[in-house]
Amino acid sequence: MTTQNKVLLAQCYALGKEGSDQVIRRPSEYREYLIETYPEMKKWAKKEVFEQIEEWSEEVDIRLYADEVNLVGRLLADNIQTPSTVIDPPVNPDMLIFELEKDSYSHVGFSLTSNDFPNFIKCTEAVKNFDPSIKIIAGGYGAMFEHTKRHADYVCVGRGVPFLRNLLNENVTRPFNLSIIPDHIHMKYKNTETVLEVCRIVTKLGCPLHCDFCPTPPMFQGKYTGELFSPQQVHDALVQYRDRLGIDKLQVYFVDPTTIFSFDWWYEFFSLFKEDYGDFGFIVYALAYLLPRLDLDKLTKSAARIYAVNFGIESLGTSYIKTKNTDLKSMIKRLKDYGIITNTNYIIGYDFDTHESVWKDINKLIALEADINSVFNLHAHPKTSIWERLATQNRLLDLPPEFYYIPGFQAFTHPHFKPGFENILPLLCDINNHIQRETGNPAINLSKTLENALNYTDHPKIIKREIKSFRSIGKMIYPKWKQYFEPSERQDLNYLKKLQ
Ligand code: SF4
Repeated sequence: MTTQNKVLLAQCYALGKEGSDQVIRRPSEYREYLIETYPEMKKWAKKEVFEQIEEWSEEVDIRLYADEVNLVGRLLADNIQTPSTVIDPPVNPDMLIFELEKDSYSHVGFSLTSNDFPNFIKCTEAVKNFDPSIKIIAGGYGAMFEHTKRHADYVCVGRGVPFLRNLLNENVTRPFNLSIIPDHIHMKYKNTETVLEVCRIVTKLGCPLHCDFCPTPPMFQGKYTGELFSPQQVHDALVQYRDRLGIDKLQVYFVDPTTIFSFDWWYEFFSLFKEDYGDFGFIVYALAYLLPRLDLDKLTKSAARIYAVNFGIESLGTSYIKTKNTDLKSMIKRLKDYGIITNTNYIIGYDFDTHESVWKDINKLIALEADINSVFNLHAHPKTSIWERLATQNRLLDLPPEFYYIPGFQAFTHPHFKPGFENILPLLCDINNHIQRETGNPAINLSKTLENALNYTDHPKIIKREIKSFRSIGKMIYPKWKQYFEPSERQDLNYLKKLQ
């Protein structure tokens, strides 16, 4: 063991790269993966359930995925003074040992998602077999399971930066450094692939809200940092970063769950881009109830634009603070009128959900006319209110910890959906196909929305390039979409109208 501290930062996560695509588009591949990854999965992943789900034809399957950047590891490495190395791709024991053999490490830190627990255990065993004096640190959502303590010397639930600084005898109160984390978005269709240069930034930690299913508030012990950096700091860092790359267009993913919270911060931030050239497109998370009050005119005519807004509706059958008293349809229309792409997150599998009510609500969701609708099933994560309630009611199935967060898996007893994949996975797949039939390929929606952005920019050239590219995808895929999804006349006309 080294006398000097040196930290190796790794991440354990399963089903990351193409996770949700694989679940709903390639069920047989998903089943194979599950059985290979989780020893006890065979009894749950029944062949007949997966076989009844139709595989998507590759003719309509456009896949989008990002590099598997170790976001947490990079954020931590940028905020400690102790020497460190970050391994980006999700690790396995061989990758870890390969790195440990190269240098002398005192600590290995794992950022861990709940569904990669078996791999995390193997990795920690490999580290201890290699050198028992190396200290293991576990953080992230997966570390919220009680079991984590058995496999780590230190467990961090809360903010990683002060935790790590404290552990390494560094100044805990030193301000945060702003990390700009390079990434790429890959768009793959059959044998062709295009790659877009993007970056990710974190400007705050935690969340001011407490949605009952969400592990973020318990993870951060209910604390929310607010903005960690001034608009000037973020602006200057992004401009410098893009200049270094020598490109005119940069997409920036704000990873904070509530990116747009302080309006004044955003107005000032945008005003700083007035004199810049090119295009900074921001992809943000926002709280729906705040969006109608956002003055979008203050976010126009500059080199910056809000490119896309992701927001949780979660359920139309219950009311969350973030959607309370919000006219979702007019809010979405307003954003789209300004050329901002809208993506809703929606959850099925609440106790009040039945097959019938889910379908009714999905049609209501589609009627809101967001560009993209992403639908998931409800999971209970340890320490959330939903988890506590289900535990009290004795409704959590007796499962290995990683099973509670597997997409398409019903991990608690439900009044209408059977445990496992039996009901919820085929339902998710049917919903996804129905959304495709009703709204067409998302590329055509994006091109239509982006056309509106031309009214609010001084830099139309780059936006025109994007519109052209999305439009040609929408056009190219149309005959294959029609053949595969067999839309009704109304659904077909809807697509054709968008192509005009
Ligand atoms: S607003 Fe988002 S991040 Fe915040 S508690 Fe709700 S789901 Fe979690």
